[in-house]
Amino acid sequence: MYRMLLLLPWLYACLLFAGSATAHNDAPEQVYDGPYVFNQGSIWQALWVCGGQAKQLRFKAPTRPQWLSNCGMGAQLRAEPANRPPINYPLPAKLAAISDIHGQFPVFTQLLMAHGIIDVSGNWQFGHGQLVISGDVFDRGPTQTEALWFIYRLQQQAQTAGGKLHLLLGNHEVMVLNGDYRYLHDKYRHTADILGYPLARLYAEDTVLGQWLRSSNVLVKIGNLLFVHGGLHPDLAKEQHSLEEINQVFTQNLMKDKRNKRRGFARYLHKKHGPIWYRGYFKSPLASEAEIDLLRQHFGIDTLIVGHTTQPHILSRYHGKVIAIDSGIKGGETGEILLYENQRFYRGLLDGSTVPLSSEVALSD
Ligand code: ZN
Repeated sequence: MYRMLLLLPWLYACLLFAGSATAHNDAPEQVYDGPYVFNQGSIWQALWVCGGQAKQLRFKAPTRPQWLSNCGMGAQLRAEPANRPPINYPLPAKLAAISDIHGQFPVFTQLLMAHGIIDVSGNWQFGHGQLVISGDVFDRGPTQTEALWFIYRLQQQAQTAGGKLHLLLGNHEVMVLNGDYRYLHDKYRHTADILGYPLARLYAEDTVLGQWLRSSNVLVKIGNLLFVHGGLHPDLAKEQHSLEEINQVFTQNLMKDKRNKRRGFARYLHKKHGPIWYRGYFKSPLASEAEIDLLRQHFGIDTLIVGHTTQPHILSRYHGKVIAIDSGIKGGETGEILLYENQRFYRGLLDGSTVPLSSEVALSD
């Protein structure tokens, strides 16, 4: 399946190391990972693990985009820290969405390439199109660092081309940022040991990726479509909360604070009915179709597009009002990307073919 990818120059190194990491994930001397980049004012520091050995580079803070690499693992640094993007956009002519990548960089990039979002060198070729990545890039698989730097770089390229890449927070981003490593691939424990840093340090606020993730949103509204990792509970519409309020309270309380525990609405948003955990469009107790309609009416949308609850493939429920896009990429074997063009949804398959999304998938639980 990956033969085509192995011919590609940009992806070659990543896949090579991803492959070696997969094959020997229990052996610290086989670990390739990084970079982890620390913003230390005028001098920055980058750390890698190359074949089980710690490597480091100290360099001047970048004043323009700068490519940084060591033993085949690179990062395109920005000169400015990331800003929190807006959460409302008009509908573009072309839109794609993918979710729950879970450290499976090869399947993720294969899908983007098969559907013309990136070219064979891994560069944005989606023009003014927009790509939504609906959370859970972290955990389970062995290539989360590759996926994160790739998204970080692609977001800059999309912006330059007049397009957009929206990265949304999933429960696994929030877990890792808050020190919950239950689902982390063993490789990353070796990384922390070899670098001599606690895991929390690698995504701290003064790291490039840590700062970027902390500036990401939990939802985005694009035209009449709303994207969120888990889903919005009907109570959010009944209680008349706005998308701006939900996003603001969620992101302002992203990090747990032992002295200042999350309370009230902030606590609600970070618990099981909140936007990164909710499963009520698929699992009991199910939201009713009237509740889905209430959500649509209150938030001024037609369709809710969610990940988090894994499906055999991209599918729709509630007569097309909800689309589920966690297509099981986490298994590392297969997956799909949602495509939207001329007001129609398609399932984009790994071989580059597309299937119109049927709106009449039976409800089953
Ligand atoms: Zn999830």
